[in-house]
Amino acid sequence: MSKMTSHDFIEREERYGAHNYHPLPVVLEKGEGVFVWDVEGNRYYDFLSAYSAVNQGHCHPRIIKALTGQASKLTLTSRAFYNNLLGEWEEYMTKLFGYDKMLPMNSGAEAVETALKLCRKWAYKVKGIPRNDAKIAVCDGNFHGRTITIISMSSDPDAYNDYGPFTPGFINIPYNDIGALENALKDPHVAGFLVEPIQAEAGVYVPEDGYLAKAAEVCKKHQVLFIADEVQTGLGRTGKMLACNHENVRPDILILGKALSGGTFPVSCVLADDEIMLTIRPGEHGSTYGGNPMAATIAITALNVLIDEKMADNAEKLGEIFRSEMKSIQSEMIETVRGKGLLNAVAIKPDLPKSAWDICLRMKENGVIAKPTHEHIIRFTPPLVINEEQIRDAIGLIKKSFREMGI
Ligand code: PLP
Repeated sequence: MSKMTSHDFIEREERYGAHNYHPLPVVLEKGEGVFVWDVEGNRYYDFLSAYSAVNQGHCHPRIIKALTGQASKLTLTSRAFYNNLLGEWEEYMTKLFGYDKMLPMNSGAEAVETALKLCRKWAYKVKGIPRNDAKIAVCDGNFHGRTITIISMSSDPDAYNDYGPFTPGFINIPYNDIGALENALKDPHVAGFLVEPIQAEAGVYVPEDGYLAKAAEVCKKHQVLFIADEVQTGLGRTGKMLACNHENVRPDILILGKALSGGTFPVSCVLADDEIMLTIRPGEHGSTYGGNPMAATIAITALNVLIDEKMADNAEKLGEIFRSEMKSIQSEMIETVRGKGLLNAVAIKPDLPKSAWDICLRMKENGVIAKPTHEHIIRFTPPLVINEEQIRDAIGLIKKSFREMGI
């Protein structure tokens, strides 16, 4: 039988898989650090990093060693029993991030759901809001995952259309608007404010300096929990361990995921203090896989790697270079360049003969893979292990791709 080509792999996925994604036509089979290879052996700079889950680079040797070592010893016990690693992970996380307790889950969406549940429990048990009346303020343009409750908060019709009826209890307010938040929090039934420190999926919208700090202050004033979804912005991506660290904000509830496992398998968690976390009692929440020994070992290693290799500092430094180089591109196609650390976006003007998709296809031909979000915004998020020589090389390939568009 002849060897399968990219085309064959793509056709098979189209034939047998649900059509809930529209991938770039590249079929990957290997990864190492900042690079991935397709089935024809072509090498690419990965400028998506699995939506920032692979901050530590593909197949980081220390993370893979932790994974394989634990995989041959004990993988899953369920929370019906204790295991010897969960406590170590919980201690590590609570000390590193400065909280009383951690609750482990798997996907980012599950961690967000957990935070919403915690907020509601706290509303009834601590704040004293009448049962079933609690509200949570959320921002227009948010992306917190794909469950029914989470899409009930969404302002994106692609995310919520035809999935109703929706979960009630959310108030949508504009992002980056303190006045709107102050207004919403006048309602005494509001228990929480859920926010992304940078709206990544929406197109890397960075709020004004001071927004997070002011929002946290307003929340405190109204006895409302400040809940930060750092699933994508956290763990070094924006140039600090947490994006909230840029403004010295300590969320009441912190949500982490993605790079918590260095891109090996789903690991997420929620961190909070006892007043909030202990409102949930045995049997009231959980997950079969949450807190498994593999996750515990991998997460500790993934964070140690991030810290030991100073990846946040690297993101800060190389992010500056990346944005300034992108801003220097002479192309009529570019509307704006924005971002923080290595979470960046180039917005492409709409209604031109060539689109963001066309550029991504051309970049792929030139050896860099990235994908548009919302049609006209290209997100650039390489693994944080990228070095200056590599990022300058990739920048050269991106510039070449813009030149070849001829606009
Ligand atoms: N929250 C944010 C900010 C995200 O960017 C994402 C995923 O992109 C999620 C939550 C959902 O994570 P998952 O896809 O692991 O459920």
